[in-house]
Amino acid sequence: MELIDIGANLGHDSFDNDLDAVLERARTAGIVQMMVTGASREGSEKALSLAKAYPGFLYATAGVHPHHAIEVTAEGEQQLRILQGNPEVLAVGECGLDYYRDYCPRPAQQRAFERQLQLAADLGKPVFLHQRDAHADFMAMMREFDGRIVKAVVHCFTGTRQELFDCLDAGFYIGITGWLCDERRGLHLREIVSNIPGNRLMIETDAPYLLPRTVVPKPSHRRNEPMYLKHILQELARDRGQSPEQTAAESTGTAREFFGLADTR
Ligand SMILES: [Zn+2]
Repeated sequence: MELIDIGANLGHDSFDNDLDAVLERARTAGIVQMMVTGASREGSEKALSLAKAYPGFLYATAGVHPHHAIEVTAEGEQQLRILQGNPEVLAVGECGLDYYRDYCPRPAQQRAFERQLQLAADLGKPVFLHQRDAHADFMAMMREFDGRIVKAVVHCFTGTRQELFDCLDAGFYIGITGWLCDERRGLHLREIVSNIPGNRLMIETDAPYLLPRTVVPKPSHRRNEPMYLKHILQELARDRGQSPEQTAAESTGTAREFFGLADTR
């Protein structure tokens, strides 16, 4: 079984001391390629350096998360544009809107999002999207770019059935994380994931965040890591009424098509 983690924050400090061991465990769990998420200017530089250090295994996105929206100054935009010139950088993002935490004022979030959508449109690159508690504004902004954004994935989808259908109708791809395994807030996802066509479905850990709550034995630390993608896959496959092999083949094929990754076999 070949798996692709489309969202791993491997540049996070918590991986500084044992990244090689983390990657080895990921390979053992069947992960053949990974997208390292860039979520800030500094984080995107780090994601690129990791992709350069592990060619053919790690690839990067470059973007600014809504939590860091104030970083998208003229200079920040220029930096993102330069980062996108590297062959290891396969998507614009993580970018979007987060009205749940509201760490940055909403107008700043909207501006940073709009600038990054424009960048993706200019470069013809896919976008890696974050949306939380901002569905209506998010869909409205995406509609402004209708026909100009080649492909978009709503990473860590956690929304309702209606929001899922809105995203699918708009042509977006869907990223599913271990949120699914959270009995406190992910149960609704279990009932709707079978509606995602295999050619729109991708899987991700969002490591080091979102350790799946159903992993046994529970690791003593709270850090999520890419090897748990296999656990997410198994739970997702069950909810979709598929074999893990089938869900793996579909999500891996979709990730390769979306990011333009080479077949590793
Ligand atoms: Zn996110």
